[in-house]
Amino acid sequence: MATNPATEMALPTRFGRILMSDACQKIDFHWGRLHIDGSAFSFIALGLASRPPHGIGCRVQHLKKNRGAQYNPTANRIEVPKASFGTNPGEEMEVVHEATHAIADATTKSKMRGELEETAAYVAGALYNINAAASISGPFPVTPTGIWLAAHNVALQIVGNPGYALSPIIASPLRQAVLTSPTYAFLKQTPNYTHDGVSL
Ligand SMILES: [Zn+2]
Repeated sequence: MATNPATEMALPTRFGRILMSDACQKIDFHWGRLHIDGSAFSFIALGLASRPPHGIGCRVQHLKKNRGAQYNPTANRIEVPKASFGTNPGEEMEVVHEATHAIADATTKSKMRGELEETAAYVAGALYNINAAASISGPFPVTPTGIWLAAHNVALQIVGNPGYALSPIIASPLRQAVLTSPTYAFLKQTPNYTHDGVSL
């Protein structure tokens, strides 16, 4: 796919703005070793504003089927299928999701079970969608379906509790939705996500 560097260069600024928005900065929960909150998203926004090879990059590239976007923990890069990515509510949720993977990469130096990290990333995206609504009963910018619906139902239980330590019992339906999704069939062969840090 031919990429226009000028439009690709707009991605870090656009993604940084999403992460610094009120809806994202209000996110605050613990999940195992992860603390997903406004200051962690601010660190990722700072990473996006850094100059390569430091910080977090953005790249437009072809992605596998069923993938809206992905975080590459080796390259410290958010990879998206088009330079206009992040300009509608569904894509904004996905940016928050991928930024949560970047938080895991930046703040944990060890491996993590893929479905556990996905659980955190989906809850963060779902909280963003709920926080962006006028009330927690909606209407929501994105009507969740599939894994996002499981995440939405988890997020609704913790949205009013900043700093909440998400319990495995509450998260269980979401974790199962990830494990049974064709998108994450690869977790059967490669169950762990690796992290090597993010330097600014
Ligand atoms: Zn993910």
